Amino acid sequence: MNKYWSETIKGIAPYVPGEQPRAGRLVKLNTNENPYPPSPEVLNAMKAAVTDKLRLYPDPNCSRLRETASRHYGIPAEQIFAGNGSDEILAFCFKAFFDPGDMILFPDITYNFYEVYAKLFGVSYRTVPLTESFDVPVEGFFTYNDGVILANPNAPTGKAIPLENIEALVKRNRQAVVIVDEAYIDFGGESSIGLIPKYDNLLVIRTFSKSRSLAGLRIGLAMGHSSLIEALIRVRDCINCFTVDWIAQAGAIASLEDTETFTRNIQSVIATRSRITSLLRQAGFQVVDSSTNFLLISHPKVEAGTLNDALRRQNIFVRLFPRPRIDNYLRVTIGTDEEMDILFEALLNLVHGTQ
Ligand code: PMP
Repeated sequence: MNKYWSETIKGIAPYVPGEQPRAGRLVKLNTNENPYPPSPEVLNAMKAAVTDKLRLYPDPNCSRLRETASRHYGIPAEQIFAGNGSDEILAFCFKAFFDPGDMILFPDITYNFYEVYAKLFGVSYRTVPLTESFDVPVEGFFTYNDGVILANPNAPTGKAIPLENIEALVKRNRQAVVIVDEAYIDFGGESSIGLIPKYDNLLVIRTFSKSRSLAGLRIGLAMGHSSLIEALIRVRDCINCFTVDWIAQAGAIASLEDTETFTRNIQSVIATRSRITSLLRQAGFQVVDSSTNFLLISHPKVEAGTLNDALRRQNIFVRLFPRPRIDNYLRVTIGTDEEMDILFEALLNLVHGTQ
């Protein structure tokens, strides 16, 4: 620890995202990336942006991207904010909507970054325990708060929250901003975007990293009442107006315009998810119902840590979360059918070999 560090930073153990291993041939199922390439139009648009625009600063407001998103999602462009991945937008939210000492709520098992940002920005938080079946108990969010953050579907459980529960929560918390992180919504569940015209305290966040196969490009969107968007713009402009570069803006626009590739990729992931869920259940694994591009699985007889270590030795990367209640589960990203077959065979051998 460095003597020059702030007290805040000394108190934070950063959330380390899943590893990005570089060794030879891997089955990489640890960070919920999409196994299929993005639309070829994305690359064409990005190449054009390189030759045309690189000399100039990018449009800070991402106007064309927001107009394209506006047509795509049916939300006015001034109610859309574009950021460098949804993580950046989530971080901006903590500065835009909460003051140090404010009390926000999020589930006890959810995306780890909510806690990290709360600590970094000095925002107090209380966690609401998930139910026995890993569902988000909506009543748990009816107590006083200055803000609520939910991932829908939740991660790393994969379970979707019914839209009526989200609406109830937004209605009961008109004093506070309710942030719904829809990173995985394209794989299942019901989006809250349709509620935006009714509630000025709802902010919906999307990413291009999962369903749009563009984790490397770093694009996220936030949608909500224009006053919420204005607050995000203020934060961004105090830090760095140009967080989304020309190349990313061009790629993101092309991605939104190619519905065919997007739909095909999602359908493939969902088909593989159902197939592997059945196979794993037949083989004695517990598999949490998933509305995402990952599965949370456990085996009654073999510890998740043992499975994880053994898979790594075979160059198969999945994810273990050292958190109460899910520390005996593995989170497995849905890869190609071939990758999932390799994983399944390896798991079967391990389970039979160890029993
Ligand atoms: N929210 C959730 C629930 C996630 O799982 C992730 C990906 N790790 C993100 C947000 C961040 O996605 P990105 O910054 O790539 O848009």
